[in-house]
Amino acid sequence: MEKISVAVRFRPSTSDLLPSDRQWHLDDNRISLHRPLGTPNPTSSAPSFSFDHVFDHSTTNSSVHQVLTSPIILAAVDGFNGTVFAYGQTSSGKTYTMNGSGSDPGIIQLAVRDVFEMIQMVTEREFLIRVSYMEIYNEEINDLLVLGNQKLPIHESLERGVYVAGLREEIVNNTDQVLELIKLGETNRHFGETNMNARSSRSHTIFRMVIESSVKNTTSSSDVSDTDAIRVSVLNLVDLAGSERIAKTGAGGVRLKEGKHINKSLMVLGNVINKLSEGKQRAHIPYRDSKLTRILQPALGGNAKTSIICTVAPEEVHVEETKGTLQFASRAKRITNCAQVNEVLTDAALLRRQKLEIEELRKKLQGSHSEVLEQVILKQRNDMLKSEMERDKLATQLEEERKARETLENHIKEQQKKIENLNDLSFSSGQTQNLCQVDLGEISKHVFNENNGVHLDVFKTPNFKSMPNNFVMKRSVYSSAIESSPIPDSFDSIADEDMWLRLNKGLTTDLDTLDMTPFRNNQFLSQDASLEHTLEEASIEETSSQETDCCLHKQSLEASKEQCAKLENECKLLREQNASLVQTLSMSKENVELLTAEKEELLKNLNIEKQKLKDLKDEIRQFSLAFAQREGLLTSLYSKSKAMVENLKSCRAPIPEILEC
Ligand code: ADP
Ligand code: MG
Repeated sequence: MEKISVAVRFRPSTSDLLPSDRQWHLDDNRISLHRPLGTPNPTSSAPSFSFDHVFDHSTTNSSVHQVLTSPIILAAVDGFNGTVFAYGQTSSGKTYTMNGSGSDPGIIQLAVRDVFEMIQMVTEREFLIRVSYMEIYNEEINDLLVLGNQKLPIHESLERGVYVAGLREEIVNNTDQVLELIKLGETNRHFGETNMNARSSRSHTIFRMVIESSVKNTTSSSDVSDTDAIRVSVLNLVDLAGSERIAKTGAGGVRLKEGKHINKSLMVLGNVINKLSEGKQRAHIPYRDSKLTRILQPALGGNAKTSIICTVAPEEVHVEETKGTLQFASRAKRITNCAQVNEVLTDAALLRRQKLEIEELRKKLQGSHSEVLEQVILKQRNDMLKSEMERDKLATQLEEERKARETLENHIKEQQKKIENLNDLSFSSGQTQNLCQVDLGEISKHVFNENNGVHLDVFKTPNFKSMPNNFVMKRSVYSSAIESSPIPDSFDSIADEDMWLRLNKGLTTDLDTLDMTPFRNNQFLSQDASLEHTLEEASIEETSSQETDCCLHKQSLEASKEQCAKLENECKLLREQNASLVQTLSMSKENVELLTAEKEELLKNLNIEKQKLKDLKDEIRQFSLAFAQREGLLTSLYSKSKAMVENLKSCRAPIPEILEC
């Protein structure tokens, strides 16, 4: 058993020149609020606090890491789960602490670097490291490594425990690869929302490394024995949403109902911390009330080494928020965890499943260059992981579909039972009291005589059963099974903005008693209960029961009549729609016929035209042939006559006959 380690970090002031009434004084690991003259603040509302570590404005991320988080990283490499939270109001330095700046790398970067350095030093074990990066925004989990992989569900299985289904995990083997993935995650996060500041102060990010390791096997691959225990540890590095009151900015702070902007996860985290700090054995801890607490359950009062860095702003304007954060931190300090090395012998360890296959691949590629070999192995590992995740996703979808179908079937069954009960009630009323002036059989025939796909056989079959006892029985079972969710969706709209302060001061909101959702079923249940009550009385006092029955039957008959009228209307509408559809269909048929005839006519004309064209072409060809022949003839005549003229000229002979003509 060990306590959660809690540190407070002051960021540098942004308003050094402004005079201030009160100042935070840091003395070793104590913090107190002082008046300017140096006297501690006398009021009890500003007590002094002490923590495991207090870091002033000049502390660097790497100092914070060295003191607070590097022991957790070391433990994670040894097989312990580890979690580091940054908690505090917006702009107090949470993201700076976790992600750092160009010159001062954050806890995440330092942790990643440490992990790879540390595993290099553990020569007797081999490691498999995978990372994921997610965001919880408006109670929805979004994958930051895959754009569009959003609204992921949380599932639980015996093998894997609680996990985010469909979340991309990437197997990595060096620091640079991880930093690239983080960069990608940050880009995806920015892509999702235009108002980035508002989003980042309302969302949580969880960067997660899963570290698996097993004793190195130096002999042959076949010696990878099934009895080898594999260590699997999860390291969560969490940048939480801003814990301030949203309406604080206005002068005096406008008291608002924040509506859906209240961050449910953060409130439930406060609740969980408060309940855990009470230290009650076997108290119900509401981990399941939010996605954040559900995912991080092992880190809160469970199997993990946990550190919380509470970041605060030193300026006087933030004194109240800082006090709130310090109160939260004080409570968190009381929580004890019980961390142990996680060793698994089942197939839940990815390393076990992949080990043999990788060994085989390694053998095959033994001659290759080692860097290429590593790349190929990494790719192979990622491919295997992806196909496993794909399989998981499909299984999840299948399960969800199965559940949806079951719910639907149950719903249909319930509806059918209700109709049966109603029908029994109506007919028995008609039989015993002669009050049944409406023949439901007739109505049903009238309503359902069309072949419109609506089948309610109960209406068609006369049913002369007496008042069914199971109706009463069923109601009483029903009325006892009141269901109310401890944390309905409308939580956000009820809790007001001062909830943060109250939570920081240690309020444990009893989520069951908070008026979060009006209980809708109550009205119906009370009606049902009175109905049940009347019917039970009826069986004892016969005379009055006749009247009560009549009354009830009348009411149900009225209801049936209304129902029937409604159905009749629907039926009429459907018939009208059907008729108009039939009309449209026949019109389209006619149009099609017309168009077909036109098409045929056109085709015929086209063929005639084609024939004409062909004939014309033939004529032209013949004409050209004849023309060419004549042309040839004329040319030869011309050349002959020319030659004769030449001859005549030279011989001075008489002009031949041919020239005379
Ligand atoms: P948060 O994440 O809590 O909203 P940020 O980490 O974004 O707050 O910090 C708000 C501003 O203060 C940023 O500009 C950041 O660079 C600066 N800042 C926070 N902490 C420190 C620190 N320890 N040293 C220097 N600058 C800091
Ligand atoms: Mg931030």
